[in-house]
Amino acid sequence: MNEQYQHRARKRFGQNFLHDAGVIDRILRAIHAREGERLLEIGPGQGALTEGLLDSGAQLDVIELDKDLVPLLHQRFDNRGNFSLHQGDALKFDFNRLGASPRSLRVVGNLPYNISTPLIFHLLSNAALIRDMHFMLQKEVVERLAAGPGGGDWGRLSIMVQYHCRVEHLFNVGPGAFNPPPKVDSAIVRLVPHDTLPHPAKDARALERVVREAFNQRRKTLRNTLKALLPAAAIEAAQVDGSLRPEQLDLAAFVRLADQLADQPTAP
Ligand code: SAM
Repeated sequence: MNEQYQHRARKRFGQNFLHDAGVIDRILRAIHAREGERLLEIGPGQGALTEGLLDSGAQLDVIELDKDLVPLLHQRFDNRGNFSLHQGDALKFDFNRLGASPRSLRVVGNLPYNISTPLIFHLLSNAALIRDMHFMLQKEVVERLAAGPGGGDWGRLSIMVQYHCRVEHLFNVGPGAFNPPPKVDSAIVRLVPHDTLPHPAKDARALERVVREAFNQRRKTLRNTLKALLPAAAIEAAQVDGSLRPEQLDLAAFVRLADQLADQPTAP
């Protein structure tokens, strides 16, 4: 690499660069990109994943926030006909700009941990464009994404993501695969937006509201935490036992509660 572009990792951009060739290869094999596909990489950094993604022959757009990495990325990849760079904040990026057809975009990223949850929510608001997503995240976050009801990991993140997507925890990655090494373990997750929602809510905002209220105080019963939103009769009409705690309810039960909320006169 050209000396001129030696880059020092920046903490405020969540920069932990992948350097383990075995891990990079395993991620690329899990994504399995093909010629003709549309890929979007969030936070390419110095290009650890970018190179293999371009080798697949797929059309790749990348969004990188750090202006100092832009010359390095141009230098490395501008000679490829399938590379487009957007400098900016992925949290503010309008994915419709890419002109991808519905359900075509394959999103990839070794994400900065501080933006991973808001970024996933931003992407889910564009779920109709997306075929699948592969992310490196903090392992605890992947465990929450993939959790089922009944345990401490089941919460707002699990429910809102599983409302839109099938979630697969693919494999874990230790700190040694990165430079500098993060203080936490990481994992690769695959999120695949459902073609048809398995439990469609009348109003997704009502679901968001019920779930947020219920998990604000996860030790309390639903009857208590949802008091301001739903009368006891509405909880009963949703066929939910109000003496339960939120972590005991599955997605379908939360959707029934949300539909009751959507039917309230002041909803949602
Ligand atoms: N993909 C590279 C790798 O695996 O080595 C870099 C991963 S590093 C964990 C995260 C990257 O995301 C950094 O390059 C960082 O500058 C970039 N980044 C941070 N916040 C961002 C944002 N809001 N939008 C786009 N890129 C961002």
